[in-house]
Amino acid sequence: MEKYDVIVLGAGIVGLSSAYYLKRQSRDLNILVIDKYSTYAQGNTSKAAAGFRDLFSSEPNFKLAKSSIFFYDHVQNELKFNLDMKYVGYMYLLDDETRTKYEKIIEGLEKKTKTKRLSRDEIKDTFPFINLDPDDVSRQVMKLKPISEAFVGLNCGIFEPDLISNYYFNELEKMGVDFKFSTKIEKLNLEPVNKLEYPGEPFVWQEKRISSISDRADSYRADNFVIATDVWSPMLFDPLGIDTFTKPKKRQIFQIKGENVEKALFTDKKFNEEGILPFTIMPYGVYIRPSIKEKAFRVAVSDDIGRSFTIEDDPYPEENFYAYNIRPVLLSYFPTLENSKLFSSWAGEYSISTRDDQPYIFKIMNIIFAGVTSGSGVMKGDAIGRIVSSLYLNKDYTTLYDGSSLKTDTFGYINRNVPYEEFVL
Ligand SMILES: Cc1cc2nc3c(=O)[nH]c(=O)nc-3n(C[C@H](O)[C@H](O)[C@H](O)COP(=O)(O)OP(=O)(O)OC[C@H]3O[C@@H](n4cnc5c(N)ncnc54)[C@H](O)[C@@H]3O)c2cc1C
Repeated sequence: MEKYDVIVLGAGIVGLSSAYYLKRQSRDLNILVIDKYSTYAQGNTSKAAAGFRDLFSSEPNFKLAKSSIFFYDHVQNELKFNLDMKYVGYMYLLDDETRTKYEKIIEGLEKKTKTKRLSRDEIKDTFPFINLDPDDVSRQVMKLKPISEAFVGLNCGIFEPDLISNYYFNELEKMGVDFKFSTKIEKLNLEPVNKLEYPGEPFVWQEKRISSISDRADSYRADNFVIATDVWSPMLFDPLGIDTFTKPKKRQIFQIKGENVEKALFTDKKFNEEGILPFTIMPYGVYIRPSIKEKAFRVAVSDDIGRSFTIEDDPYPEENFYAYNIRPVLLSYFPTLENSKLFSSWAGEYSISTRDDQPYIFKIMNIIFAGVTSGSGVMKGDAIGRIVSSLYLNKDYTTLYDGSSLKTDTFGYINRNVPYEEFVL
């Protein structure tokens, strides 16, 4: 079987963007992308709520998102490849406590990106159906508090991960990158660089590398490997004793419809040009994402303690999770959605970095690992691909699409230089 210069394992947003920048920056490279599904972007990329924002507290994380958003905007508006990208905004409804807690971060973001604040009166005027004062029962039982202000990110909105993936895939095909689907890799084969043909190799004193990766039937050989296998990464790396810092956690999305959904979804054009409710975040992180085509809302929350770190083969959405965790908070602030009906739902998994909620991107031997996108991998996908390409080329700095740059090992595990991310959804 042909030996490739690089095999990229995983055809989600991270693998696609990585292959794209590897090939764009070194046109001679012979690249193969492998995935276990029958086509690209069928893993967590297809499960995303499909929102984007540059509202991150950590500077490196902010750079990843801001520059990727900038690139996707370029694809849609200059290259005319539709990504269904709409700047509807992200609106955080803050009570007094969260407002105080995040004040410093908000002030920092106000200096570096487009934002605005809405007073109570402005929220009431723009979105009259939002209830800012939860009733007594909600206050007592769920400890919900009155909303005192909204913080809004304007360089934020909604897009379609499938369309972004289509863009990279089409470009990769045009550039002659090979794809092999329906191929589940079970093993990364470790060998010494210089074989002695002694049993038990590689020994501790031998330089090591991955020579090939194998499924049940075949082995695929390459000089270098990019592994972008998201939550499934530990299955390949743990047997080698390499830590990818990946912790999987189930995340669920519920779609609701109904007459009042449409009334809340299509607002007048006071707030954004689209005349659409922004992606809105309520206390406890319960969020509501407008879905224009379906005339629906996607609602979700990321639960923490009580939700195990488990990989499920086919994660299923739990209706009771919607009924008892999401709906009560949602209705406290959006009572107009009382009669909305749940019409579809799905579940995927976040690969979480419990240390700082940010990606890991590093090189070890002849493998580049890129993952642990901590719930925001689509909106950062472009920048991650660029960092992978820089690691391959041994560049100390990576230039991102907006012209900003960062040290290529910022998201590594040795010289890791990222503060804890406070704005996780
Ligand atoms: C419910 C939910 C909501 C989300 N909302 C958002 C959002 O609004 N905005 C946002 O930016 N991000 C969001 N995310 C996060 C985002 O989806 C991920 O960060 C991103 O998709 C990760 O991309 P990836 O390429 O690393 O992973 P994936 O898309 O999961 O791709 C990994 C690929 O590797 C393949 N693979 C794995 N192991 C093997 C193997 N052994 N052999 C062959 N192939 C293998 C898989 O088949 C898969 O295609 C959300 C995630 C979930 C679950």
